Amino acid sequence: MANCKWQVASCKWQIASGKWQIANGKRIMGTELESRMIGRRLKNEFGRKIYKLSLDIGCTCPTRDGTKGTRGCIFCSQAGSGDFSERYTGKQEELDRAKARLGAKIDTGKAGFIAYFQNYTNTYASAEYLGPLFEAPLADKTVVGISIATRPDCLGPEIIALIRRLCMRTTVFVELGLQTIHDSTAAFIRRGFPLTDYDRAVGDLRAAGARVVTHLIFGLPYPSNHPSADRAGLSLESTEGQMLSLESTEMMLESVRYVARSGVEGVKFQLLHVLRGTDLAELYQNGAFRTLTMDEYVDVVVRALSILPDSVSIHRLTGDPPRRLLIAPDWATDKKRVLNKIRERMVGRDQIVSDAVR
Ligand code: SF4
Repeated sequence: MANCKWQVASCKWQIASGKWQIANGKRIMGTELESRMIGRRLKNEFGRKIYKLSLDIGCTCPTRDGTKGTRGCIFCSQAGSGDFSERYTGKQEELDRAKARLGAKIDTGKAGFIAYFQNYTNTYASAEYLGPLFEAPLADKTVVGISIATRPDCLGPEIIALIRRLCMRTTVFVELGLQTIHDSTAAFIRRGFPLTDYDRAVGDLRAAGARVVTHLIFGLPYPSNHPSADRAGLSLESTEGQMLSLESTEMMLESVRYVARSGVEGVKFQLLHVLRGTDLAELYQNGAFRTLTMDEYVDVVVRALSILPDSVSIHRLTGDPPRRLLIAPDWATDKKRVLNKIRERMVGRDQIVSDAVR
């Protein structure tokens, strides 16, 4: 009971502090939210601030090379979701250039880094090709681990064996692009693998010692007349030829619940961006669907956070769209405002919790 009172007092202080900081136009120090962010957790783990170095090792995707499709996932940019990365062939100077991209504010002498293989599907090649590229950054003593972005259907036994070997040497994150658990949406966005592949991949990766992170997108449309479309989405807008719904809040939260149960260590939330040059952009410009409002996005993220156990680290609350490619929503470029709104809502949630305790 004493402990509960202490928590109430603590929450009040944080609420007061949060309000003061909003009033003064400063960044809100979130409450429990900060402690769940991967940045804070990595700093605690490694004793210094950890940054990601975005690298492109020249892979492609089965949804691009003709194996499962040629045009990629419907929302994906030409750079394969890695518009800020550095081409990497295993050379130190390439790694140094990736560090320089982070900007002058970072003290590269004190910071630590995770080599992040970001563009396209970074396990869609042979283990002989990938092994040396994954290992090369480890020669740099400031690199404390690697992170591999990939798809669940590109993790065969050889790749899992490679990841197991890497896990014995260093910290290995593997990011799986799931986006949604709903078949109708997955088919529409041309994801190209069933949910069972995700389940198998999470099991294999965890058994290999990898720290698995799942990527989810909020605001995805799907054809409302799809045979497996089982309920109405947030909005319905008709177009010539195609009727699309946005996934409802409940559908998005079902994906979050599924991921929470799957035993992953981290989650990345992403707002759906409509980017120039994608098939999604064409549909959007034809009026086939709308994007989420900032309030809708903030609402679903805050609800999602309340579903996830504390053990699941939050790797991202919203993404940074490449401005030159962004068509919608225009508020997506105002990341600070989105993050502040999420923190504000979290503080409000603390207030509700503290009232309940009282
Ligand atoms: S979202 Fe990922 S899997 Fe899909 S096309 Fe883009 S990089 Fe490839």
